[in-house]
Amino acid sequence: MTTPRTVLVTGGNRGIGFAIAEEFLAQGHRVAVTARSGQGPVGSLTVQADVTDAASIDAAFTAIEAELGPVEVLVANAGITRDGLLMRMSEDDFADVIDTNLTGAFRVVKRASKGMLKARYGRIVLISSVVGLYGGPGQVNYSASKAALVGMARSITRELGARGITANVVAPGFIETDMTAALPEAQQAEYKKNIPAGRFATPTEVAKVVAWVGSDEAAYISGAVIPVDGGLGMGH
Ligand code: NDP
Repeated sequence: MTTPRTVLVTGGNRGIGFAIAEEFLAQGHRVAVTARSGQGPVGSLTVQADVTDAASIDAAFTAIEAELGPVEVLVANAGITRDGLLMRMSEDDFADVIDTNLTGAFRVVKRASKGMLKARYGRIVLISSVVGLYGGPGQVNYSASKAALVGMARSITRELGARGITANVVAPGFIETDMTAALPEAQQAEYKKNIPAGRFATPTEVAKVVAWVGSDEAAYISGAVIPVDGGLGMGH
């Protein structure tokens, strides 16, 4: 049994974040999730927070610290898409995706780093996407936001690596959640043709990898991009 840690998963009320929270709970950790609506899995602490709002993040961390102690493992998972072809993409659709997926990750990482530096221990896992490095038509905003998380994790690694803190990126391929359910059937079938595994993954398949990267055992892995994509992004 590894040391029980205090874990925070942003966007842990559904999809991949919910599965990640479930996995950390199953491994005996203290788990908090942020949600704008709904709840995390049974046994987790749900705190309201919007990652586009630094004050709400600060309040969420303060509540978690009071109930569960300082956050030792942070999973920056909250994310959105606002797909559209470049020629038609509005500046708002670009800015909203960056604000949630990239600046949102920055806001939570910054707030979490305080406690991690003090404890000289931390695991930061940023949920990116295969699209970050592979690209995706109609996803100029989304892929830019997800690629930037790689630079973020690597800079955190260089800044904080000597303090027992790791920062890694997990890059899922297509996962069965509300986000992919929104894609038209024909598009889903087309994507599956290009995935060597021939299928989408379950959120649990991502959660198992995230829980391991976020574990004590993964102390010597930092600045890495770990794909969970059935082979879709090989070489990217
Ligand atoms: P979902 O759309 O199912 O869930 C998104 C989660 O993010 C929800 O919990 C949502 O909260 C939360 N969220 C969105 N915006 C905010 C915000 N401003 N503040 C706080 N929480 C917010 O997505 P997935 O589970 O599919 O995706 C989770 C992560 O994995 C995302 O970062 C996504 O980009 C990434 N990913 C997903 C893939 C997939 O195939 N599904 C593939 C690769 C990466 P609420 O319920 O309140 O809206």
